[in-house]
Amino acid sequence: MSPTTIAAIRATPVTVPLEAPLLHSNGAHWGRFVRTVVEVETADGYVGLGEMGGGGEDAARAFAALGDYLRGHDVFRLEAMRFAICNPTASLYNNRTQLHAAIEFACLDIMGQKLGVPVHALLGGKLRDEVEFASYLFFRYANPRTGRGEVRTAAQLVANARALKKKHGFRVHKLKGGVYPPAHELECYRALAAAFPGDRFRYDPNSALSLADAIDFGRGIADLRNDYLEDPVWGMPQLARLKEFVPIPTATNTVIVNFEQLAANVAMRAVDVVLLDTTFWGGIRPCIKAAAVCETMGIGVAVHSSGELGIQLATMLHLGAVLPNLGYAADAHYHHLADDVIVGGRMKYERGAIRVPDGVGLGIALDRDKLAGYHELYRELGGYPYDRDPGRPGWYPLVPNSDWADPERSLKPDLARPRQRAPARES
Ligand SMILES: [Mg+2]
Repeated sequence: MSPTTIAAIRATPVTVPLEAPLLHSNGAHWGRFVRTVVEVETADGYVGLGEMGGGGEDAARAFAALGDYLRGHDVFRLEAMRFAICNPTASLYNNRTQLHAAIEFACLDIMGQKLGVPVHALLGGKLRDEVEFASYLFFRYANPRTGRGEVRTAAQLVANARALKKKHGFRVHKLKGGVYPPAHELECYRALAAAFPGDRFRYDPNSALSLADAIDFGRGIADLRNDYLEDPVWGMPQLARLKEFVPIPTATNTVIVNFEQLAANVAMRAVDVVLLDTTFWGGIRPCIKAAAVCETMGIGVAVHSSGELGIQLATMLHLGAVLPNLGYAADAHYHHLADDVIVGGRMKYERGAIRVPDGVGLGIALDRDKLAGYHELYRELGGYPYDRDPGRPGWYPLVPNSDWADPERSLKPDLARPRQRAPARES
């Protein structure tokens, strides 16, 4: 067995608290993130780190099932690994794209450690020392322990954004919407733009709007400093149609997450900015390939956040460092976290940006005590249903949605309930 072959894979689910529960168009993050931390160990004892989400659930068993596929695979043979576990036809039966991503992160980490270079040096070399981030603002329930942190009204949203800007220096603000009626969210978005003259803004209702609502919203913000409308409606045909009515660039992290969809967008020109997610695309390297296609075809790119602890954040920073055509601030949920599992605690924002790690590999290390502690918290609390809202038992959205949360009601839902059984929707 070569010293650089994979000898073992360990996966540990952890729960890390959020400052407050985050609402989105499909449900909520129930006051915490559940992430699976992956460690890949080579025959000669190097350990690389990976991370994956999973909609509020533990993914450890899925990684355990990959053991027979990966034991003996050389960490330097990443292109072969893609076919070993993500053959496109086999993937119709067993989609391992996100698992592949976490293993790829760990293999790149090991390659960097063995060669004594940071991951960005393996990916073409960094073009920037820091990556700028947007503030990524959410409507939120109050933290049930402290009673603080609710974001429901325009005034609360502006206050939250002002605090985040003061603390982290954000100059770009993203409003996660699709929760309250579009007219309320329009009022909130315009309040942000009025509060921060000179900053830039973006709105992401996760495809919850009808075409008519999206046209109204887009026309209602056309005079502001918008980066783009992110997934205002579902699907490339509707996004293309929206562009006929609204003179604002469109973006997606949802309907272009593979190369077939990217090819379709090259033909359709429905989306102007593709938000690259190192997990959704199956790793850092597929994101770089996709960015190259976008560069060739005149499509913008940015870095997407599907929720992250420091390991995943490191992958986003190394990606952002090497993309020549990165034209927008990246997204991160990171500042909503109360803590992290990496040595040194949470990475710091300065002037709205985070420094690209320059240590070997991903440039971060696991804090074993934190890992153990947050694994215990996972065992205590269990998973949470990402696609359910604890404040609206039984509710789930149609696409487009028409059943919005009530912005007049301040709710304090019970977050401890592990599961909700959704009744059948009445017709
Ligand atoms: Mg999005």
